[in-house]
Amino acid sequence: MKEVIRLSSSDRNISKRILVVEDNDVNRELMREILEMSSYEVLMAKDGEEGVNMAKEHKPDLILMDIQLPKIDGLQATKIIKADDSTGSIPVIALTAYAMKGDENIFLEAGCCAYIPKPISVISFLEKIKTYLDTKPE
Ligand code: MN
Repeated sequence: MKEVIRLSSSDRNISKRILVVEDNDVNRELMREILEMSSYEVLMAKDGEEGVNMAKEHKPDLILMDIQLPKIDGLQATKIIKADDSTGSIPVIALTAYAMKGDENIFLEAGCCAYIPKPISVISFLEKIKTYLDTKPE
């Protein structure tokens, strides 16, 4: 009988890496503080282009993607990330301040798995992140 021993993705000793793509300095710092307090490793990008490049370079476990971004907007950046074999399986959660009824479909069509409204509520923000980290396909 073969036994394969490996660390599962739920192993608490493995720190999960989250990429925050957000152009607003205050929002980005706020999310960094909340995530670091929860022991996540945080990577940050200030525009869509940097976000795509960092996703490819660092292969984070999860991406939080602002929608209104300079250079490449969040929807476009998500489509690029999802179309690339090396990053396509990374869950992307959209962040936006002005979602209207029906906007969620636009985020989902771009490849986002969920949407978090801004301003963020700390508890539901962390709960949603945890949900998508736990269900990430291997
Ligand atoms: Mn923005």
